[in-house]
Amino acid sequence: MNPINGIFPLLTAEKSIIIIPHKNPDADAIGSTLALFNFFKKIGLNATVVSPNLFPKFLNWLPNADKIIIAENNIDSTSEIIKKADIIFCLDFNTLSRIDILENCVKESTAIKVLIDHHQEPSEFDFLYSDTEIPATSQLVYHFIELMDKEDLIDKEIATCIYAGIISDTGSFRFSSVKPSTHKIVAKLLKKGISHSSIHDNLYDNNTIDKLKLLARTIDLMDELKEFRTCIIHLNKDDLLKFNYQKGDTEGFVNYGLMLENCVFSVALFEDLHKNLVKISFRSKGNFDVNAFARKHFDGGGHINAAGGISKENMVDTIQKLKNILVNYKSLLLEV
Ligand code: 5GP
Ligand code: MN
Repeated sequence: MNPINGIFPLLTAEKSIIIIPHKNPDADAIGSTLALFNFFKKIGLNATVVSPNLFPKFLNWLPNADKIIIAENNIDSTSEIIKKADIIFCLDFNTLSRIDILENCVKESTAIKVLIDHHQEPSEFDFLYSDTEIPATSQLVYHFIELMDKEDLIDKEIATCIYAGIISDTGSFRFSSVKPSTHKIVAKLLKKGISHSSIHDNLYDNNTIDKLKLLARTIDLMDELKEFRTCIIHLNKDDLLKFNYQKGDTEGFVNYGLMLENCVFSVALFEDLHKNLVKISFRSKGNFDVNAFARKHFDGGGHINAAGGISKENMVDTIQKLKNILVNYKSLLLEV
């Protein structure tokens, strides 16, 4: 593995560069990839963003979001584009299994592979820029540009993408992962002319009535397990369909569990509309490590206080499995 600055001299105009976020990308994944894309365009590079699947509609307004190629819409032509790539940047994930239908294609590619990410236990890449202490990959993109000594070229569009990613992965600066460097960078982004309140409005005050009613349903179904300081929320297919579920509608719902007094562990389970599986989000407070929990029991991963995973069992069995596992974590949860 090489130090990240080794990639800088290889970034030349004749190279074809692909930038890929993880499947089901969130605002940090799309914010960081578009920040890097807009920056590469600015310095005259030939870059393309390819997302494994569709991103939520509430990210459509990010500068150049309309240029993102959605691989699942046409996997054959996307594979051709990736095959011709000279350099592939992977952003906001730590292992190629996180890009789903693009995994094999990227693995087989002879392109130079670069990882910019903040998840635990990154895999081997040709160039690795990973820092689990940094709250958002979008912040790492800022540092990457800084390392290239091209901070001056960050314009309002690039700054907007970085800011959107940072507020999303920091819960608008409230998570413990926020660093002094995060605020210092944000001060610089503000000086680039971004409109922080409209970015916030675009991300969070842009809901359909169906989504808010789905949230109300979720909270109605909330299950507080006081003895484990845990909250479980779940949504079945029927509820998702009743409220006309659109991609991204359940983002952030898991955080509502942590609003309960004394709750340190929130689990949100959502039935997949197309496959027989349950997608799970985990959030915690303090030192309860949900990355380890998700890896060990639900084929997932993430960060210490925010992780995800899946279950191939049905909703009832998954919740029962979760409750059985919780017994082994009781003392850890009470110590937080
Ligand atoms: P979310 O709960 O918002 O989907 O994801 C929280 C964090 O966990 C994100 O950083 C995300 O990248 C990671 N994550 C979510 N689902 C999975 C998964 O299935 N596997 C792994 N390794 N990480 C995940
Ligand atoms: Mn992230």
